Amino acid sequence: MSSVGCMAPLEVTDSRPATVGAIHVRRALPRKGRRTVGAWCFADHMGPAQVTKEHGLDIGPHPHMGLQTVTYLVSGEALHHDSLGTEQLITPGQLNLMTAGQGVSHSEEATGQYEGSLQGIQLWIAQPDATRHLAPAFEHHGELPRIELSDTKATVLVGEFCGVSSPARHDTALMGVELQINNRVSLPLRSDFEYAFIVLEGVIALDGTSLEPGHLGYLAPASDEIELDAFEPARVMLLGGIPFESEILMWWNFVARSRTEVDQAFDSWCDDDGRFGEVVSHLERINTPAPFWHSPH
Ligand code: MN
Repeated sequence: MSSVGCMAPLEVTDSRPATVGAIHVRRALPRKGRRTVGAWCFADHMGPAQVTKEHGLDIGPHPHMGLQTVTYLVSGEALHHDSLGTEQLITPGQLNLMTAGQGVSHSEEATGQYEGSLQGIQLWIAQPDATRHLAPAFEHHGELPRIELSDTKATVLVGEFCGVSSPARHDTALMGVELQINNRVSLPLRSDFEYAFIVLEGVIALDGTSLEPGHLGYLAPASDEIELDAFEPARVMLLGGIPFESEILMWWNFVARSRTEVDQAFDSWCDDDGRFGEVVSHLERINTPAPFWHSPH
């Protein structure tokens, strides 16, 4: 058991229902009182939803800066287009990782081929000062490292878990792992990491506290192990990292440090001045009202 000694209690927050493109999501991050976990600053559990060949995520071209988007599917398929010229199909168990840096834009679309259930998670990772002003980039990983821990299968999306490392880029010390749990398992943790547990399917108990889809379980640094019980086969995202280096300002699709940075990004997108490039897409470009503090230009 891990609960010997001074393990911090699990803090549970509710996710917020939202709609992104055409899909219902449960937004686990950010929430009041829980803005980041390591550098993880956004978590949308998408679906499950029924999609058609012509209509899927249906998220038109929109900009990002200062963050990485992590897309991982449990079921279904989606098509990613970005301003770097990437067109990339993603299927379950694969990873799309887009690094925005100073600016990138992308769309998430139906594939034209797949119809059926779509379920997955989209996560954002705040970039540190060292990389957030650099050029954008995109990576697709068709195969990710998998490990077995007693009856549990773990897929390492980002970072390292149980001595196994993902090939995906990471700019800060963090990890993201998908766990398929059939029974009881003891997970090794890093005592300098804080962690979030997001249940996608099933119900689990973490050191006695139960957790199901629609909530986030947070564990402060100081634990080096946690015991997890699955009452039925469960699928869980485990996210961890060293508490982030600074406060962030998140507004719409931007991760910044100041309102001035947000204003500049907002103006660039409205003016289509080239900072965020062009996405080849049949979907409409997404716009948003100005920040409340923004003066007309
Ligand atoms: Mn996006």
